Amino acid sequence: MAKKQFKAESKRLMDLMVNSIYTNREIFLREIISNASDAIDKLCYLSLTDDKVGLRREDFRIDVKIDKDARKITVSDNGIGMTAQEMEQNLGVIAKSGSLQFKKENDMSKEDIDIIGQFGVGFYSAFMVAAKVTVISRAYGSEEANMWVSSGADGYTITPCEKDGVGTDVIMELKEDGEEADYSEFLDNNYLSSIVKKYSDYVRWPIYMDVTKSRYVETEELNADGTKKKQWEDYTENEVINSRVPIWQRPKSEVSNEECINFYKEKFYDMEDPAAVIRVSAEGTVSYKAMLFIPSHAPANYYSKDYQAGVQLYSSGVMIMEHCDAVLPDYFRFVRGVVDSPDLSLNISREILQHDRQLKIIATNVEKKIKQELERLIQNDREKYEKFYSAFGLQLKYGILNAYGSNKEQLQDLLMFYSADKEKPVTFKEYTQAMPEEQKYIYYAVGESVKMLGELPQAEPVRKKGYDILYLLDDTDEFLVKMLGEYDGKQFISVSAEDLGLETQEEKETAEKVETESRELLDFVKEALEGKIAAAKISHKLVSRPVCLTTQGSITLEMERYFASLPEAVSGGVPMKAERVLELNPAHPVFKALKAAYETDRERAKDYAELLYGQSLLAAGLPLENPGEFSELVCKLMV
Ligand code: ADP
Repeated sequence: MAKKQFKAESKRLMDLMVNSIYTNREIFLREIISNASDAIDKLCYLSLTDDKVGLRREDFRIDVKIDKDARKITVSDNGIGMTAQEMEQNLGVIAKSGSLQFKKENDMSKEDIDIIGQFGVGFYSAFMVAAKVTVISRAYGSEEANMWVSSGADGYTITPCEKDGVGTDVIMELKEDGEEADYSEFLDNNYLSSIVKKYSDYVRWPIYMDVTKSRYVETEELNADGTKKKQWEDYTENEVINSRVPIWQRPKSEVSNEECINFYKEKFYDMEDPAAVIRVSAEGTVSYKAMLFIPSHAPANYYSKDYQAGVQLYSSGVMIMEHCDAVLPDYFRFVRGVVDSPDLSLNISREILQHDRQLKIIATNVEKKIKQELERLIQNDREKYEKFYSAFGLQLKYGILNAYGSNKEQLQDLLMFYSADKEKPVTFKEYTQAMPEEQKYIYYAVGESVKMLGELPQAEPVRKKGYDILYLLDDTDEFLVKMLGEYDGKQFISVSAEDLGLETQEEKETAEKVETESRELLDFVKEALEGKIAAAKISHKLVSRPVCLTTQGSITLEMERYFASLPEAVSGGVPMKAERVLELNPAHPVFKALKAAYETDRERAKDYAELLYGQSLLAAGLPLENPGEFSELVCKLMV
């Protein structure tokens, strides 16, 4: 019969496994047992609603057997099994489950070997120890069985065969011992069972093995006093060797942080440690246990629709849903983990689950715990939080935006923005706590970079007062603070706003006087700029710079820019224009020069107005409307 070939990546992985010099080969057993356990989960789940399964919970089991003479290890389960087609799909290509992102086409390198250590690579890891692997399987609901056989990278065959009962046997024929490796050690019962214990102790289903024991027994020989002689003899007993308590069910004190982290990495296929582990053991109206993880980086597909949010939901150790998103608010959808409650009904559909009262209570509680943990990180583990925030900060912001600010209480304390003063991200709480007593507002500036905002003219008076400014660097940040409106009773205000609340009454009056005196000149500037600005004003806030560009009305320059960047389908094709205001600094020599020109040479004064407007655009980080004209103007005024 012709051999079928593995798909390209699978073949490469297979090569890697066959030739593996990886020292941790023993993990193959964990992988095969974990597949067996998953297969039982699936059938057990079916049995909840389908009487035809004919197995009770206590009937499910995994058996690990050794045949020393034939050098074989067999792992059997009475789970859901596979049809020939499923064997083809699942064992002929690398599982789609994400157990391995094995896309790099580099040579076998240290990195590859690390991948094995980090994740295990599922079924294929059998080839680290086996020269030949046979899988005999009968799928639930099927009368026939099939046999998949492969001796490695050269391909595999699938043929019909006989098998009593539903389930799968994975038979691994060990490689011959070589110089570097002793495969025969796996044929030792006690050694093999110690590996099972080490990696698969918390597998929910009983794993049976023959265990060699010794006992002191009577013989036929007699002692001098007529009693029977006794001696030690070995015997084997087939018994359950795993303790079957899932890691999240074990008491906190018995599970180290490292064990939790390893569990996370294996279960959720992450190479990096999570930013935090949250353990919950709740008793009360609803009892549940949870082990939750806050990842430290976003998975590659996180911001795409491929990402499946949700925790794994268990009821008394039986998985009832792989991605239950009803437990997590959407803005915490990055959280991974397991929630297990005996109070949940096993027979539950996704729709019912959304309205399940018990689950709602769990969800509220879980949300609180996640928030507490994030706040704890802000306080005690800043570096980790900042890393987390750079991955998921956007998610938190969208959480507020999508709900039009209605969940601001839950989320606002988790946000961070760059502080001009501290030169690093700070929370609103940290900002307001550091405010001088007389400061009324929370100031922010919107722009593309810290550098550009550092040079913004309108920021100067605020900084000069000793007030900090939050830099809003993301597109949607300004909408966000507008939606929040205020924090702790303090309003957010843009440094580009007309009234920054910085002046005393006296300063205000003086400025107003100058404004009245300069009315004619200001109107001239507006006229000269031919509709580019809505008004020219005497600035109340400029300190050392001659001009700045601000806006009046509700649309700011940054919003205008953001709307302009949206596709027409979203923006409706109607341009959103900010009403620009050119502010002039009356104390600056440039203002005096403008005034002088206005009185003596109107043409020149018009050029000055253009020049100042161009300058204000540049300082605001906006493009010149006509760079060619602008540079000509500069030349014209220089000679
Ligand atoms: P993963 O377990 O990460 O999906 P594997 O390579 O270990 O990747 O397994 C591939 C697929 O083969 C599994 O997802 C499952 O569908 C199927 N499979 C493997 N072992 C068994 C088994 N004992 N019973 C039923 N199906 C199995």
